[in-house]
Amino acid sequence: MCGIVGYIGKNNNAKKVILKGLENLEYRGYDSAGIACNINNEINIQKEKGRISNLKENINFSEKSNIGIGHTRWATHGKANKENAHPHKCGKITIVHNGIIENYIELKQELSNLGYKFNSDTDTEIACALLDYLYNQTNDIIKSIELFKEKAKGAYAIGLLCDDDLDTLYAIKNKSPLIIGINKDENYIASDVPAILNFTKDYIILEDGEFAKINSDSIEIYDKNNKLTDKKVNKFESDLQDISKNGYEHFMLKEINEQPEVAKKMIDEYINKQDINNLIDLSKYKNITIVACGSAMHAGLIGKSLIEEYGNIPVKVEIASEFRYKKLFIDKDTLVIAISQSGETADTLEAVKIANDKGCDTLGIVNVFGSSIARNTSKVLYTKAGCEIAVATTKAYSAQATLLSFLAYSLAKNTNDKNKLNEINSFLTDLNKLPILMQKVLDNNEEYKEIVNDIYNKNDIFFIGRGIDYSLCMEASLKLKEISYLHSEAYAAGELKHGTISLIDENTPVIGIVTDKNIADKTISNIKEVKSRGANVIYVTTEELDNDGDFYDKKLIVPKTNSLLQPLITIIPLQLISYYAAKNNNCDIDKPKNLAKSVTVE
Ligand code: GLU
Repeated sequence: MCGIVGYIGKNNNAKKVILKGLENLEYRGYDSAGIACNINNEINIQKEKGRISNLKENINFSEKSNIGIGHTRWATHGKANKENAHPHKCGKITIVHNGIIENYIELKQELSNLGYKFNSDTDTEIACALLDYLYNQTNDIIKSIELFKEKAKGAYAIGLLCDDDLDTLYAIKNKSPLIIGINKDENYIASDVPAILNFTKDYIILEDGEFAKINSDSIEIYDKNNKLTDKKVNKFESDLQDISKNGYEHFMLKEINEQPEVAKKMIDEYINKQDINNLIDLSKYKNITIVACGSAMHAGLIGKSLIEEYGNIPVKVEIASEFRYKKLFIDKDTLVIAISQSGETADTLEAVKIANDKGCDTLGIVNVFGSSIARNTSKVLYTKAGCEIAVATTKAYSAQATLLSFLAYSLAKNTNDKNKLNEINSFLTDLNKLPILMQKVLDNNEEYKEIVNDIYNKNDIFFIGRGIDYSLCMEASLKLKEISYLHSEAYAAGELKHGTISLIDENTPVIGIVTDKNIADKTISNIKEVKSRGANVIYVTTEELDNDGDFYDKKLIVPKTNSLLQPLITIIPLQLISYYAAKNNNCDIDKPKNLAKSVTVE
């Protein structure tokens, strides 16, 4: 979940490179941060609780260092305090670690019996002690890492320094992402590409079970069987612009505003340059299962509605962490689609492996090129959202929904359902107008700010809708919770009166979303039910369904577009409402408390 950066180089830039890298990775975890650098042949460790800025204040950048490792933590074992912050040092070994050592309790017992004492509550310190113990036994780091791989269970990306050789940086990877950046006279390790983008675009991806011995001008990589291996060098295609705010107050606002541009890129890639049908033919599958977590799962729900409605194939959407531990009814006739922005979401990745083992074809819908899910699925379609830094996803979510809409359209082209022909025949024309309509919605900021005045200081907020609008409610509600810490719930409009309506009081904000003409009357009836109980109703609908009724207090009208594209427009005001609610509440919008960007632990 968190960030690792390491440096080895003749330019003696360790402190500067590591701090810059950690700043670029801070969105991945920010409970605490620390660095360990070689200063005059001794490892010097500095750590601080909280943000990287706290750490940076205390660092003496005039001290040159040829090697170092740094970490920004998202605590899994032990509180977010200074003692638990990484790096950890035991004997001659210093490490930073992402992931979870699952058998740490058993290892702790063994190592305690051998006389090791521990200063933190982390699983990481146990891994460090184990490596130190193995090194004392073998006097050989490579051998120690091989033995460590046998003994330690769980997920780990580790950057390692050994007191006896402060000219070599080691990297070990299992189930948590880790890359090696390559440059002249200096090399790096990192848990994610943005960490090294200020210095190089060339990088090698480590696979599970692999580890590396890295010097300033050489890199040796060992495969999962501990044999030396050659690896392909990748080039990162995006640029630094992507990881700067570009004049916006927050990354989230920048990313919301980038959605028309992302839509254009996706239209170009999957419609203009090539036909998505040539990339994947969904018609040969009897059913589809989508596995994903969080907002990606909500994008999956949009995909389910569209593919079932227009593509006529049954689609199940499964929360990846549930899919892993239940009885599955999937086989070679099932396509399993895994959706993840980072392509590293631990539960989604493991769900892909299960589907592969069951003989299913798997399709990855991911944003990060070459990520683990991209490498483990039989086919991959990339969302062209560019780097997404804000923890709460916006442009990557809508890019996922866009791709699913394209897939639904690719199936719909062969339909003989006359009721659908209008939407299908006008799809391409409407699609070309999509970026302009998105921009139109983005320009209505003042309207959203006014709506936020009604909700930002309330305790409970409800989103209600039916069908695809219910899927939008779920995403809108999650967004609000994530960044503004307001409690909210998304409810299928017809279900409210089966219990939850008891929570509606005078002035309780209820946002009713109605964009589907076929069920508009039904949802409006449900809105009337809450209105009669005093709710403060905000009615979100399209130009087509604009209605001068007395069942709402405020209304928010979005442009009407093709049904296959409507959610991509409707979500934008809802994202902006969350953004302004968080801003009114002075929340840390890009780095909400307790969260991290890519969830690489299960
Ligand atoms: N399990 C380790 C800890 O709690 C690493 C967590 C992380 O990935 O940041 O310190």
